[in-house]
Parts: sequence; structure tokens; C-alpha cells
Amino acid sequence: MYGGLGAFPEGGLDNPYYKVAKEKPSPLSTEFDRAYFDTLVSTSELRKLSLKAFLATEQRIPGLGNGVLQDILFNAELHPKKKVSTLTAAEKTSLFNAVRNTLFSMASKGGRDTELDLFGNPGSYQTILSKNTVNKPCPICGTLIKKEAYMGGSIYYCEKCQRL
Ligand SMILES: [Zn+2]
Repeated sequence: MYGGLGAFPEGGLDNPYYKVAKEKPSPLSTEFDRAYFDTLVSTSELRKLSLKAFLATEQRIPGLGNGVLQDILFNAELHPKKKVSTLTAAEKTSLFNAVRNTLFSMASKGGRDTELDLFGNPGSYQTILSKNTVNKPCPICGTLIKKEAYMGGSIYYCEKCQRL
């Protein structure tokens, strides 16, 4: 995992991160509303994807990567391998709310406690699922948190709380 701060001249560069950040709404912005989210989950080529691929690859949602994905899916009670096409209306609502609420909470607390800021201080958001909580009890049901290799990274989840 890495983070970066980029400064670009106005008018832009041929840089994929710059382009996405300019073209697609930040999940913390008001443009990232339920209507926009519903368009994403109804796009046919995206419906085939797992939730991890849908949310955290291709910079589809700027700033949403593997590190923040785990707690979003935990809060939505959805499994990282669940397919977008299998989401019920209630699950879509819960996923949309989890994206917004989890990211707002992380941002307002100065980031996750698993990462350091520019001064070397950890954030004060207490990460629910990470390498530090593998094999520890799920805060909801007590089942031990699992770690699995998936799509070139690790996924962490509670097999009881997060529906596949
Ligand atoms: Zn659980």
C-alpha cells in the first residue's frame, strides 16, 4: 500500500490518476449520491465483478483502495467475493451507506490507525479489519477474522457477518 500527494499544472497531464480524480466524483463529495451509485451498480460490465473488484480497482471510485475496502464491506455486512449482480435492493442501500459513512469516519478521524501521517503519527480511526486483527474476534459476533489472498492482495472478513 502507498499514498501520494501530486501537484499538476492546470490543463492537466496525461496521467491516469489525475484524469480520474478530475473526471469522477470523490466518494466524499455531494455528487457521489445514491443516483450516481445506482448507475454504477447497474452498469452491465460492472455487474459481473466481485465487490472487491467493483469498489477497489481501476480507480472507479477515486481514493477507494484495498486498505479502506475491508471496513466498508464489514460495515455493509457483505463479503468481498460477492458479485455485484447478486445485490438485493437492501444490500445496495447498505453498501452505499457503508461507502459514505466509513470514508467520512476515516477522514474525520485523521485516517486509519494502521497508517502514518506526514509527521509519523497514526490516524485515530480504529481499523476493524486489517493485518492486525486477523484471528481476533469479530466485534459483532466473536467469530475469528479471516485473511485470504484474493486478486493480488489480501482480503479480511468475518465469514459469519459478511454475506457471500
Ligand atoms: Zn462477525
